[in-house]
Amino acid sequence: VAQPHGSLLAGLNNEQLSAVTWPNKSALVLAGAGSGKTRVLTTRIAWLLTTGQTNPAGVLGVTFTNKAAREMQTRLAAMVPVNVRAMWIGTFHGLCNRFLRLHHRDAGLPNTFQILDSADQLSAIKRLMKSLDVSDERFPPKAVQGFINGNKENGQRADVLSAGDPYTRKLIELYAAYDAQCRREGVVDFAELLLRSYEVLSANQPLRAHYQARFTHILVDEFQDTNRLQYAWLKLLAGDIGSVFAVGDDDQSIYAFRGAEVGNMRSLLTDFAIAEPIRLEQNYRSAGNILAAANALIEHNDGRLGKKLWTDAGDGEPIRLFEAHSDVEEAAFIVDEVKALEREGWRLSDIALLYRSNAQSRVLEHALVNAKLPYRIYGGLRFFERQEVKHALAYLRLIANPDDDNALLRVINVPARGIGARTVENLLAIGREQGVSLWQAACSGGAGRAAGKLADFVALIESLRAKRDDALLTLAETVSLAIEHSGLKAMYEADKKDGEERLANLDELVNAAASYMPDEPANALVEFLTAAALEAGEHQAEAGEDALQLMTVHAAKGLEFSAVFVSGLEEGLFPHENSMAERKGLEEERRLMYVAITRARRRLYLSCAQSRMLHGRSSYPLRSRFLEELPEALLKFLSAKPAPRAERAAWAQPAATPRPTRSANLGGWRIGQSVEHAKFGLGVVIDAEGAGGDDVRLAINFAEHGIKWLDLRYAKLNPA
Ligand code: ATP
Ligand code: MG
Repeated sequence: VAQPHGSLLAGLNNEQLSAVTWPNKSALVLAGAGSGKTRVLTTRIAWLLTTGQTNPAGVLGVTFTNKAAREMQTRLAAMVPVNVRAMWIGTFHGLCNRFLRLHHRDAGLPNTFQILDSADQLSAIKRLMKSLDVSDERFPPKAVQGFINGNKENGQRADVLSAGDPYTRKLIELYAAYDAQCRREGVVDFAELLLRSYEVLSANQPLRAHYQARFTHILVDEFQDTNRLQYAWLKLLAGDIGSVFAVGDDDQSIYAFRGAEVGNMRSLLTDFAIAEPIRLEQNYRSAGNILAAANALIEHNDGRLGKKLWTDAGDGEPIRLFEAHSDVEEAAFIVDEVKALEREGWRLSDIALLYRSNAQSRVLEHALVNAKLPYRIYGGLRFFERQEVKHALAYLRLIANPDDDNALLRVINVPARGIGARTVENLLAIGREQGVSLWQAACSGGAGRAAGKLADFVALIESLRAKRDDALLTLAETVSLAIEHSGLKAMYEADKKDGEERLANLDELVNAAASYMPDEPANALVEFLTAAALEAGEHQAEAGEDALQLMTVHAAKGLEFSAVFVSGLEEGLFPHENSMAERKGLEEERRLMYVAITRARRRLYLSCAQSRMLHGRSSYPLRSRFLEELPEALLKFLSAKPAPRAERAAWAQPAATPRPTRSANLGGWRIGQSVEHAKFGLGVVIDAEGAGGDDVRLAINFAEHGIKWLDLRYAKLNPA
């Protein structure tokens, strides 16, 4: 029977078809990896549009990464003739940014507000702590950052928090001071994007009503990884009119450590009166053996919502297993296999090397470089994190908004222009006393001997701003001008060591600007800077060329490749040592392994090493328990078939002895011990530092609050 919009719906199975054409009410598609969730979501948007049930403005589409958002837009554009760029499809961060740009007044933000990435945020916190004279020994800035972000993700401002112990009270105080500093400087961090949008929407009834009436269809991919605030934000936007169509897989929930709550799936069912989740059970991605391995592995987890997955693709090849003597040998093995695949005609870009932790990429990269195999790294803040690129961006940020203190501090003396630490401290003092930005402090003349040099710096920024305004420069011209006139170019030209590479990166930044398409040309610079901040971590250094894909398992979520290598399958690495003490942590690691396996279409390699350099010394890890959980019938050993784990455990003593760490004196506690804290609840000691005596800080992985460093002088701990 010919269906209307047949070409759109052609090829979908019955369950997929029912999901795509679900009536206009909320739904949850709960289905395993590769069952077509993302495809269903995209097709549903196209179907809603072609059947006239909504217009492009009525759709809000939420994806997990910018890359996924672009992919969805591309696929959508191929299905329906609409301007997908104008549609609200993006990540939570991207969408909230868009919202705040439009309503910056309501949000109390300058229209040029800048986004602090994680590294910027950390330096802003360090600067704040310095100005308040808070010891970063006692309050590690990273811990302060974690505290601030954790609370923001829970929707809590400093003024609603309270604490019995002085340590936490101080953290709350720092949180409040940090927020005040951000407001003063007109900058927002990632967590703030969401919290501020949420607050604006809840406080402003007419605005809320407007958006609730507008977004009649809210569609969310990777729903299992939404956190509490994101869920609240969705609920607020949906209101009484809108419907939420969410797709997800509880077995792929891998962001609990960042506050994601699988419980949101259950809340969605009740809050939106969904009788039954829609299930998709046919897997279209992976060969049978790969799927069987994934299914067998995830069986070891408790409390799953339960799903069946089958494929009619046939068993395919066995899963290849390799146990190397060392990490270097493991990398060499991978390189050899990749070369063999390449000779057989596989495309490099269809091959992925996955690892649990970013640091693991170094050995692999080294081997790849030597073998001259082109590769690309996703998700490691590559291009936009490079020093020279950040310097150039700081100048651009000052052009957009000279009150941006972080940017000013980054480049006020780069290239060196004789503005020393003393002068900067002076500016900071003036800023504090008069409640003005450092830029304003600098304009007012600063103080002392450096006044002339400061005036030169002010004049430089002014002239860049004026040139852009007067000459109506294009974005690329502005970027190129900033690189040249700031002196960055000359500085790197004089750098014999790695100046050449840095200049190439700056050229690449100009290229990026030239190919950037702003939504609103008059606002191109701010948009470009925002895109740079949001995309840091996903941007490709070298585009175009066919290249191997390297990334952490986290970054691989939602993606698929014909061949996948998962390396470093060792206890302590994968599962990661920080998560092994507790069943909950271990189950999250197993879900991560499930994600890794299910990225593969046709061929899967799993490898481990008997020795590895870790934290600067050799370690002798045990083979990962996840390998033992795979049915042997699915495996093919490329190295000698290893002895069973129990036998190896006997001789693999080095891994079993306690780590000879700085944590010899733990103030009476021990690594792995369960403890209870008045505020954070139950947790496990995972690391320690300090001189001993009463100078001990423990890292504790709290079930509810994640990892925190606690100072034993202040924190009240009880054995649990
Ligand atoms: P993940 O949980 O990993 O995000 P997913 O459920 O979102 O996976 P998709 O990425 O949408 O799955 O689909 C997996 C693969 O199967 C894709 O290549 C997709 O094009 C293909 N696919 C999905 N449905 C069908 C179908 N009905 N016929 C053919 N191929 C399909
Ligand atoms: Mg998907």
